[in-house]
Amino acid sequence: MPELLIGGTWRDARSGATREIRCPADGRVVATVPEADEGDACDAVAAARAAFDSGEWPGTPAATRGALLHRAADLIEADKSDVARAESLDTGKRLVEAEYDVDDVVRVFRHFAGLAGDDAGRVVDPGQPDVVSRVVREPIGVCSLITPWNYPLLQTSWKVAPALAAGNTFVLKPSELTPSTAILLLHHLEKAGLPPGVANLVLGSGAAVGPTLTSAPEVDLVSFTGGLVTGRAVMAAAAATVKRVALELGGKNPNLVFADADRETALDFALTAVFLHSGQVCSAGARLVVEESIHDEFVDELVIRAEQIRLGGPFDDRAETGPLISAAHREKVEAYVAAGIVEGATLRCGGRRPDAPELADGYYYQPTILDDCRSGMSVVSDESFGPVLTVETFTDEDDAVRIANDSIYGLAGAVWTSNAGRAERVAARMRMGTVWINDYHPYVPQAEWGGYKQSGFGRELGHTGLEEYQETKHIWHNVRPQPQGWFGPMAAGDGDG
Ligand code: NAP
Repeated sequence: MPELLIGGTWRDARSGATREIRCPADGRVVATVPEADEGDACDAVAAARAAFDSGEWPGTPAATRGALLHRAADLIEADKSDVARAESLDTGKRLVEAEYDVDDVVRVFRHFAGLAGDDAGRVVDPGQPDVVSRVVREPIGVCSLITPWNYPLLQTSWKVAPALAAGNTFVLKPSELTPSTAILLLHHLEKAGLPPGVANLVLGSGAAVGPTLTSAPEVDLVSFTGGLVTGRAVMAAAAATVKRVALELGGKNPNLVFADADRETALDFALTAVFLHSGQVCSAGARLVVEESIHDEFVDELVIRAEQIRLGGPFDDRAETGPLISAAHREKVEAYVAAGIVEGATLRCGGRRPDAPELADGYYYQPTILDDCRSGMSVVSDESFGPVLTVETFTDEDDAVRIANDSIYGLAGAVWTSNAGRAERVAARMRMGTVWINDYHPYVPQAEWGGYKQSGFGRELGHTGLEEYQETKHIWHNVRPQPQGWFGPMAAGDGDG
């Protein structure tokens, strides 16, 4: 089936090339999709540009745009089981997790549908009579939306919904590994009544289509979610034409546990923080930073529980977490664990592929805990993006904050303590875009999401998530225009006087 959407037409790649999509749980081919190249990307950018410059969407009343987003949310909700299934097959994640993701996607669309007409700008005091001075918000133009493979549709919804709510047109490029739900989403947007050319879809490798999407002069904004190295390349490519850029990059997120925390709950969440989706979560609590006095018993218990985590494919009801996304990614995770051991970490559990023959064809890796870790080890400082927990200890509050902030990243983190004052003090000092107190992972579309430091800049979700897709314009309207007399015959010193 033709699955590039360009200017309202579903078509194959110009070259006729295709790519097989394999399920990471067993390596079997689950889809074959067109593989776009630079020419297809140029077509998509041109279509989005034409739809913005000459189409009706940017001028469509905000309330109408919001209503369309609500219709899209209804369609996604009605199609939940097929969408979740497609997401599970592409990513290998458990079906139940993919279903949660679809529920979240629906919530995100409804959030931005509600915000679409919420802020029409404001009237400001011009400081003189006979003038109306107002500040309005307008769409930015053509947006390149580039998304990763770990939460394919959810990350896409964080960009597509606000881009449309604000009246932009876009070219979406999902990860080459996980294109299926992007295809379904664009079908739903069409069914919801989105005019042709507003939403364009390019499937293909980042190396082939990325440079066009990030450097073409016709593109006004690049919103990118992915790794730090790619993010730097995106920023550099966008610089030549001074595009607006929003980067949602990686994290190496600390989970701070004080001795006075509720032990059972902190243990339970320490597992979810890092092993959910096999650690392939940008905000994963991959650095356990635990108070020295409880280190031994806390980590001993964690190891017992981590060893019992059941691995399995998307449709295995007994599975608690799934595979890594690809063979190459698993090798990267293995290399980080090996380097950590060489650098002095103690392997407490995992550190290898599972033995179970039924898992042999998938890219599974056992939940791994590395104890005796410290700053400077690559497994501590870099994002391994796998089921790997590193353990460090702290002595007091200042030490905990110092270790938590000892990272080039600043995406998210948590603090566990029963001391409310300490919780607030520590949360305030953590240099991260999201801090959880006595919890891990929850987010809501109403609250902004994004990173400090090299976790990126710009914010998704919340109110700011819409503003990222808007330009701000000041309009000054002189309702009684008269000559000013600064220059010319009426100027002071001229004429008879
Ligand atoms: P990635 O390798 O950086 O890829 C992200 C996207 O960029 C993919 O669509 C990729 O295409 C594309 N790309 C690759 N090279 C490009 C180029 N030169 N120009 C433009 N686009 C290019 O990241 P990933 O491995 O897919 O995702 C995992 C990363 O995403 C982790 O670092 C994770 O922390 C981060 N993440 C962050 C957040 C957040 O909210 N901060 C959320 C989710 C994930 P191909 O797939 O075709 O290479």
